[in-house]
Amino acid sequence: MKAMVFFILLLPFSMVLSLRAAELTPHQQLGRDLFKALIETDTTHSTGDTTKAAELLARRFRDTGFPEADVQIIGPTLRNKNLVVRYRGTGLKPPVVLLAHLDVVEAKREDWSLDPFKLTEKDGFFYGRGTSDIKDGVTGLSAALLRLRRENFKPNRDLILALTSGEEGGADYNGAEWLLTNRHELVKAAFCLNADSGGPQMRHGKKLMYSVQAAEKIYQSFRLEVKGSGGHSSVPTKDNPIYHLAAGLLRLSQFEFPARLGEITRRYFQTMSQIETGQTAADMKAILKTPPDSKALKELSAVPFYNAILRTTAVATMLQAGHAENALPQMARATVNCRLLRTSRLKKLRRLCDAYWPTIRFPSRPSKQPSRARPRRSRQKSCEQSSNRKREYGRGSPSSPSWKPAPPTAFFSASRARRPTGSVGLPGTSTTSVPTAKMNAWVCRISTMDWNSSIN
Ligand SMILES: [Zn+2]
Repeated sequence: MKAMVFFILLLPFSMVLSLRAAELTPHQQLGRDLFKALIETDTTHSTGDTTKAAELLARRFRDTGFPEADVQIIGPTLRNKNLVVRYRGTGLKPPVVLLAHLDVVEAKREDWSLDPFKLTEKDGFFYGRGTSDIKDGVTGLSAALLRLRRENFKPNRDLILALTSGEEGGADYNGAEWLLTNRHELVKAAFCLNADSGGPQMRHGKKLMYSVQAAEKIYQSFRLEVKGSGGHSSVPTKDNPIYHLAAGLLRLSQFEFPARLGEITRRYFQTMSQIETGQTAADMKAILKTPPDSKALKELSAVPFYNAILRTTAVATMLQAGHAENALPQMARATVNCRLLRTSRLKKLRRLCDAYWPTIRFPSRPSKQPSRARPRRSRQKSCEQSSNRKREYGRGSPSSPSWKPAPPTAFFSASRARRPTGSVGLPGTSTTSVPTAKMNAWVCRISTMDWNSSIN
């Protein structure tokens, strides 16, 4: 399979969304209605259903004249299906896939000041789960195709809209992968435009830049588990799985991977140093020196976004331990999510884990091909061509290639290993010995992602 070429969609839609309802044209109103309906359809993995979102969009496409056969809701489970819509062109050129995901990250009502599943417009901003990842993209793509159909536009190639499930992790499967494997004929295309990979940025109402995703960090999760013999809380012991795990996590919190400036990262900071001002711009220039200025590196690393671009990261994201308040815990478990800069880091991380977490076992090789740090020439060219097409966004806006530090895609268990003994330690730190009989297992699950996988 060929690697997917990244283009960025320039969607004026997000800009018109902020207009007040009274000022909206019929097409803008359609976009707003779709956006509202999508945000108010829960598509989280735990309680939501992407099939419902697919159905509400499919109705619009059918009502607008798309043949039944060209609007397909498909997937291996009843809940969380994908929508594939084919807008037929003249066939002069091979099709293009327009990709976005329907699912959203979990959102607990108590964590939000506003209802995450209600679209709220306030002070010029939209609030709600998925407003920026990526139901805005889903809306933009859908509204654009509906409008083109109404205006009887005939493209010179088929436009394939693929709105998928399971991109945010936690689902039973990944929609894009499933389509490629099971319904390849539906998404066979020359290239793919991914709404989730970069985009325009504004600051204080001013157009700032247009970012183009050139590569993506590798997604990798570890599940760490410490077990103990348990007992009654009235007779506590020092050997407690919660303490052992907490001590390991504390060391993780103090650990930092070294900064790494690759080709893409360097170009990103070069461009950004001309957009930013003051100390930030000076720091960006300073880290491009050889060797990088350590003070500037430290200052930039204090900003989470820049830190995530500069280095591999590892962070505890979930914790689970104990089973009763009056019992000594028999198990403590943490999920540590890593974002790795490149393949070599995966190997290095594996070596570090072998040294410091001797009971963690990796699969012999990752199940997914990680994204490349250096984009292939054709991909780079395509990105540059795309970034030059800034008519919709404004000619004055610089474009910048970047690493994307975030989104998870395929999340699956690849390995599970148990051993009766081990040490609790973290890379770059001292280890804490754990009595053999008490700490009887570290269990490691590995998740990988590859959002750069082929759609062709
Ligand atoms: Zn996303």
